[in-house]
Amino acid sequence: MNLKDKTMMFYVSTLVALLLVLTAFSALSFHYFSIYAAEMHARSVAETVKVGLTESMIHGTIDKRQQFLTRLSAVPGVQRVRVIRGPAVVNQFGPGIALDHAGVKNGEETGGIDLAMVTGKASFEKTSTSGELVYRALIPYVANDLGTPNCLQCHVVSVGTVLGVVAIDIPLAEKRRNGLIAVGLISLAVFLVALAGLAILRRMMKPLADTAHAVQEVTAQAVGGDFSGRIRLQGGRAGGRHSADELDDIALNINHLMEFLEREVTTIRTRVGQLMGHHLNDGGNQLALTAEMVESLVAVAQFKQAIEEDQTKLDIYLRLADMLRNKYDFKRFSIYEIAPSKNRMTPILIDDEAGVACRYCDPQVTVDASFCRARRTGREVNAVDFPGLCTMFRPAEAGDSHICLPITQTGSAGCVVQMVIAAEHSPLARLMTPFIAVYLREAGPVLEAKRLMEHLRENSLRDAMTGLYNRRFLEEYISTLVAGSQRRKSAITVLMLDLDFFKQVNDTHGHEAGDKVLKTLADVLLRNVRRSDIAVRYGGEEFLLALMDTGADAAMKVAEKIRGEVEATKVPLPGGMLQKTISIGVAEFPGDSDTFWQVVKFADVALYAAKASGRNRVARFTSDMWDVDAHY
Ligand code: GH3
Ligand code: MG
Ligand code: MG
Repeated sequence: MNLKDKTMMFYVSTLVALLLVLTAFSALSFHYFSIYAAEMHARSVAETVKVGLTESMIHGTIDKRQQFLTRLSAVPGVQRVRVIRGPAVVNQFGPGIALDHAGVKNGEETGGIDLAMVTGKASFEKTSTSGELVYRALIPYVANDLGTPNCLQCHVVSVGTVLGVVAIDIPLAEKRRNGLIAVGLISLAVFLVALAGLAILRRMMKPLADTAHAVQEVTAQAVGGDFSGRIRLQGGRAGGRHSADELDDIALNINHLMEFLEREVTTIRTRVGQLMGHHLNDGGNQLALTAEMVESLVAVAQFKQAIEEDQTKLDIYLRLADMLRNKYDFKRFSIYEIAPSKNRMTPILIDDEAGVACRYCDPQVTVDASFCRARRTGREVNAVDFPGLCTMFRPAEAGDSHICLPITQTGSAGCVVQMVIAAEHSPLARLMTPFIAVYLREAGPVLEAKRLMEHLRENSLRDAMTGLYNRRFLEEYISTLVAGSQRRKSAITVLMLDLDFFKQVNDTHGHEAGDKVLKTLADVLLRNVRRSDIAVRYGGEEFLLALMDTGADAAMKVAEKIRGEVEATKVPLPGGMLQKTISIGVAEFPGDSDTFWQVVKFADVALYAAKASGRNRVARFTSDMWDVDAHY
C-alpha cells in the first residue's frame, strides 16, 4: 500500500470513527435532554394543576375542574392530565370525578400511583399508551400550610398528608422524531465537511504522493547503477531549479545528487577503465561494475607491491598461478618464460607444477619460441572467440579452448600465460581476461627487473672467461651448501686443481694461448661433475671443485678421471697442438675437518704435495702433510 492510500485510509477511518462517536453522542444528548425537558414540563403542569385546584376549592369552582383539566390536556406537549384523589380527600369529599379514575382503574398504573400516594415522592417513567410512546409523571400533592391560599384551608388533614397524585402524560414521539432529525442533520453536516476535507486532502496529498513515487523510482534506478532519472518539481517546470516548498527541495536535492553521481561515476569509470586498459560498455549496473573495477585495481596494486618484494622470478610466477587458480578459478594454465637471446620457451609452471614439460602446446614452441603466436605478435590470442587461432594449442579434452596473454618485457613478450578453458566456462573466461591482463601488465616490468637483477648477480658471481663460478660465489654460498650437507649428513669433497708449468704456456705461446688452455680445462671440469656440484675458478690457473654428497674415495676417482682427461686433451694452437697436465689435491668435509675453509686449505696442501711429488697426479690429503708450524 503506498503512502497516499495509507494516508487516505487513516483519514477515512478517523472520520468514520468521529462520525459514529458524534452521532452516538448527539443521540444520547437529545435523549437525555428530551427526558429532562419532559420532566420539567410535567412538573410545571403539576404545579399549575395544584394551584388551579386549590384556587377552585377556595373560590367554590371545583365543579369546573374537569374543564380545567381538559384545557390543560390540550396544551401542546401535554397529552393527558389526571388527578387521583388520595384516601384522606376521598374520606372528606368522596371519590370525585369518576373520569379521573377511569384510566387508573383500568389497572394501567395503579402500582406507581399507590406508591406515590404512600411515599409522597414523584416518579417518572417511559411507557406507551394506545401504541404511542409517552413520558408519564406521577407527582403527589402533599398538604402544607405554607402561603395563601393553602390546602389546609379546605382539607381536614395534617401537614405532609398526600392529598392526591397528578398524573401527566407527555408525548415523546414528536420529541424523538425531532431529535432524530437533528442528529441526522448534524451527522450529514459532519459527513459533508469530512467529504470536503477528504477532497482537499487528496488534492494536498497528490504532489506528496507523486514526489514520493518519483523518489522511489529514481532511487531504485540509482541502486541499479543508472543515475539518469530526475524528479519533476511540483512547484513548476520539469527539471526546474526553483523550489516552491519542501517537496521541491527534496526533488531538487535528489536531482542534484543524481547529477553529481552521474557525472562523478562516469568520470571514475572512465579513469578506472583507462587504468585497467579496458573500456566498460554502458550496459549493466555501472556502479557495481565500477566498484568491482576499483576493487580489482586495489587488488592489482597489492599484487604489485607483493611481487616487488618477492625475491625471485619463481615467487612471482607462483603468485600469478595463485591469482589464476584462486581468484579467477582457472585450474588449467601454463606459464612460459622466453629467454630473450635464445628464442626458446621454457615451461615454468603447468597447472601449478614446476619443471614439467608443456602440456597444452606443441613442444615445438619450447625449441623455437616464434611458433607461439602470443610470443610472436605480443598480443592476446583469444581462441574462445576465434577457434583454431593458434595451431600450437593441444586441447586436453574435447571442447577445450584457450586464451594466451603475453607478459610484455622491454617491448616484447617475455612470458606467455596460457589459460585452458572448458566450453562451459568460455563466457566467464572472456569477461575475466581483461582483469587478468592488468595483473600481467603490472607483472611485466617487475619480472623484467628481477630478470635483470638475477642476470647481474649471476655475472658478478661468475668468471667471465670460463663461465665457472668465481671465488666470491663460493664465499657467499658455501654456508648454504654446508648447511644442506649437514642436514643430509653427507660429505662434500673439495678438489684443488692447478695446471703444471702453466707459466711456460704464456711465455712460449702467449697469453691468448694460455686463456684457451684455461677455457678448455673449464670444459673438461664441467663435463666431469654433476649439475649439483660446484666448479669454481679459484685463482689465475687454479680451480676448485666441491663435489656434493660425495666422499673422498669416490672423489678420488673423479679427480683421477679429470687428471687423465686433461693429460689426453690436445688444445689446438696456431703453432700446433698443446697438451698439458694437471695436479690435484683432495680433502673431505667433514671427514678431514668440520670447518669447510680448513678443508679447502687441506686440499691446497695436498695439491702442493702432488706438485712436490712430480706433478700430473692426484694427492689425497693426509694429516702428516699438515705442518702446523709452517702454517701458523
Ligand atoms: P706449477 O707447476 O708449479 O704450478 O708451475 P706454474 O708455471 O703453473 O706456476 P704457477 O702456478 O705459479 O703459474 C702461475 C701462472 O699462471 C702465472 C701466470 O702467468 C699464469 N696465469 C694466471 N692467470 C692467468 C690467466 O688468466 N691467463 C693466462 N694466460 N695466464 C694466467
Ligand atoms: Mg698456480
Ligand atoms: Mg701452475
